[in-house]
Amino acid sequence: MLNMIVITILLVRKGRLLEKLIIPDSAFDQASRLNVGMQFENWNHANLVLLAYGQQIGFVWRIQDKFLDKNGGVYKYVFECRHAGKFKSKKTATDPSKQRKRESIKTECTCFINMCWPLKSQSPSITKMNLTHHGHSLNPKMIQFANVYRQLPQTVMDKIKFYVNTIHGINQHTLRQLLQGEFKDHLFLDRDLANAIQQFRKGDTDSERDPENDASNLLKELQKMKENDPTWFITYHCVKNRLFHLFWMTPCQQTLYLRYHDVILTDNTARTNKYHLSLCLFVGVDEHHHSRLVAQALMSDETTSSYMWVLNNFLVATNNLAPKMIFSDCDTGLEPAIETVFPTTRHLHCIFHIVLNIKKNLMRSLGSQFTAFQNDFFVCRNTLFEEVFESRFNSLCTNFPEASSYLKNILYPIKKRWAKCFTYQVMIYDYLKKIELSQKSIINGYIRFCLGV
Ligand SMILES: [Zn+2]
Repeated sequence: MLNMIVITILLVRKGRLLEKLIIPDSAFDQASRLNVGMQFENWNHANLVLLAYGQQIGFVWRIQDKFLDKNGGVYKYVFECRHAGKFKSKKTATDPSKQRKRESIKTECTCFINMCWPLKSQSPSITKMNLTHHGHSLNPKMIQFANVYRQLPQTVMDKIKFYVNTIHGINQHTLRQLLQGEFKDHLFLDRDLANAIQQFRKGDTDSERDPENDASNLLKELQKMKENDPTWFITYHCVKNRLFHLFWMTPCQQTLYLRYHDVILTDNTARTNKYHLSLCLFVGVDEHHHSRLVAQALMSDETTSSYMWVLNNFLVATNNLAPKMIFSDCDTGLEPAIETVFPTTRHLHCIFHIVLNIKKNLMRSLGSQFTAFQNDFFVCRNTLFEEVFESRFNSLCTNFPEASSYLKNILYPIKKRWAKCFTYQVMIYDYLKKIELSQKSIINGYIRFCLGV
């Protein structure tokens, strides 16, 4: 299981806790090996590794400077410790005795990192660095101030608000393209954009769209069903009359789940409804290979805590019967929730989503080699023997060095969730157990039939 370290970086805006930032283990691993020449997938990845390093050591980075290339993209960042620089008093008084003695955070600290991503290069890398601190103590609790440089400036926030309000259902990708046209020198992190979209969507949902009537209508409908049949399972979570989460299981779904809880597939529809709630579906597979919907939930966001709410209620509804296997995409919010709430469940990733992520992360860097890479990747993924898989995986890293970092840091740690030699074993084992059980029951049935009992 991939361990995700959840760090409470308080992304607070207007006093509201927005979200916990999840930094993957691989970023911490890379952070402990920072050196000149180290390469990153993209600026977002570099930033995650720097945040991980700051967390490990106990200080906070800020962007000291950035340089643009001829296309308007950033080709160089200078990151420095937020204690770098010399304190200059803004007072004009020349008599030092008249100056107010105030503590400044600037202590002339010398810690900095230069990173460059020239046009001819596939990825950003560290070109120069000094990791020695000066004049301040190092305290891992300081990380809570990391929003100092992660926060988007007000001008950008205003623009995001404008786009979210005028373009219905705008996604992160479109928003980024629009913003990058206007703010060429700004670093837009996925998480910041997602938070900002979420913030404004919630804002207008609260004031204009009056969802409580809809929410209460939906709840009334469900409650009516429950009055007719008390075995309906319905639970919800409201904050200030606004529906946050809703989970329900019909009596028929509960029966289906009892029969088909071995393998459950779960996926979320993007927020395509007008309240921007995510619809989370749980699907089982029956003996005719038909999909059977066994439970559903509406969620206000896709954070770990929201998933934990859903999964915990799932257990309540099913009398603590967790699925044996669960298939999902590589949703970072879902993974820690499954690990915590369904500790005995085998969590696997469907290859469809793995391939989507590969395209997203590697198409640019591999260029014309991508098709060849994808073919080799499938051959490697479909290998049935662990030793052969390992050797093919190593060849993949050697033959496609541009993909090596993504393969090693992102895909390899979760190989047991997608490589056939691991998933196949689980399936076969389970299938054999099932056959064994059904044979036993057939034989027992036959014996009973012969004995006439
Ligand atoms: Zn420092």
